[in-house]
Amino acid sequence: MGLTGLAIFKLLPKTNCKECGVPTCMAFAMALAAGKATLDQCPYVSDEAKEALESATAPPIKLVKAGSGDKVLEMGDEQVIFRHDKTFYHPTGIFIEVADDSNVEAKVEEINGIVFERVGQRYEIDGVAIVNASGNADTFKNAVAAAAAKTGKVLLLVSEDPAAIEAAAAGVAERKPILYAANGDNYEKMVEIAKKINAPLVVKGKDLSDLADLVGKIVGLGYKELILDSGERETSKVLADLTQIRRQAIKKRFRPFGYPTIAFTTEEDPYLEALQAQVYVSKYASVVVMKTTELASLLTLFSWRDNIYTDPQKPIAVQPGVYAIGDVTPDSPVYITTNFSLTFYTVQTEIEATKLPSYLIAFDTEGLSVLTAWAGGKFIGENIGPWLKDSDLNQKVSHKKLIIPGGVAAIKGKIEELSGWEVIVGPREANGIGTFAKLKLGA
Ligand code: SF4
Repeated sequence: MGLTGLAIFKLLPKTNCKECGVPTCMAFAMALAAGKATLDQCPYVSDEAKEALESATAPPIKLVKAGSGDKVLEMGDEQVIFRHDKTFYHPTGIFIEVADDSNVEAKVEEINGIVFERVGQRYEIDGVAIVNASGNADTFKNAVAAAAAKTGKVLLLVSEDPAAIEAAAAGVAERKPILYAANGDNYEKMVEIAKKINAPLVVKGKDLSDLADLVGKIVGLGYKELILDSGERETSKVLADLTQIRRQAIKKRFRPFGYPTIAFTTEEDPYLEALQAQVYVSKYASVVVMKTTELASLLTLFSWRDNIYTDPQKPIAVQPGVYAIGDVTPDSPVYITTNFSLTFYTVQTEIEATKLPSYLIAFDTEGLSVLTAWAGGKFIGENIGPWLKDSDLNQKVSHKKLIIPGGVAAIKGKIEELSGWEVIVGPREANGIGTFAKLKLGA
């Protein structure tokens, strides 16, 4: 459990000097206990008090980083159990397994090639898990080196043999790989290796109780760059363990469980495997290690992850403004929609498919969709008309015709009155744009 405000106050200097930005040490203690201040805001805390206060001020789940360059994966540092309470911060890293006795280079090339573009976002696999399937330390070391040469993605080195991990990790130390795994038999040696290269170390228990004991022993050795694996592989039990770990970390501030987590899929069918991974992404794996490279399965997983890790309090918006689609000319048609990203990219995709170069206005509705923005008074003639009248579109096109979404045909008159443009009511749904462009615009 974290310390109470009163317990924290007893450890502060009690000079009420105000340098922390609040009037008294008591107020600062209360802010610390509530997680609304950080200890470094008080310059006068003694080293002893700092150590004692760590449990009250440290985040409930430690932030652990792996990888290097522009491929750093941040794990943990989550604050809530339920996404709607605040948000989840660090999206689950998706890794794909490569056996060290397979054609490592070809498999890593295939993983590198898994890239999707969807509604303006780019998705790719976060990491490669090289598995010591051969049981041979040299084969493992060579496979890790071959994978590292082929990809900048985060590396996960999977072997419970410390000799194999030590040999392989030494060659990729600067890449800050994740080492898997420390267990009851090997943890002292594994901690030594992890410490040497400052790499995150997965701690694998036989069950939750064993895991808590093992974490305690490893922390006692002075290492805290940890990721947790309860050892379960059956979906419902993994889900129960991940949930228990998160609850204990957040609700009870149980320190042994205050670390990111890892889960492995076991399903053979790619669609079931993606479903299993979706369960772990939802609750609460920081890393999921998979086998499939099937694009359709992975795309559903990325979309799911996006939904889970989107801040529920902030609509996803694109920059408001005028977007040119294709090689526009003064004759190009002008469409308007809102700057809610899902709507915008859906409309943009449909316009692209018409092959008729066009302008698309992303009108600033603070990220609300068309009907919501209309109902909320943000996507109405009184706003669009004056904006359009002053827009530099007046210099870019020669026709002054604006195509609006069919669902808000009611705003046509006001836009015309306030802008001097002619308004054409377009289709109600984006998927009607193709037919509309063919029939009305000669696409
Ligand atoms: Fe108290 Fe430290 Fe704040 Fe000064 S800076 S008021 S000593 S908590």
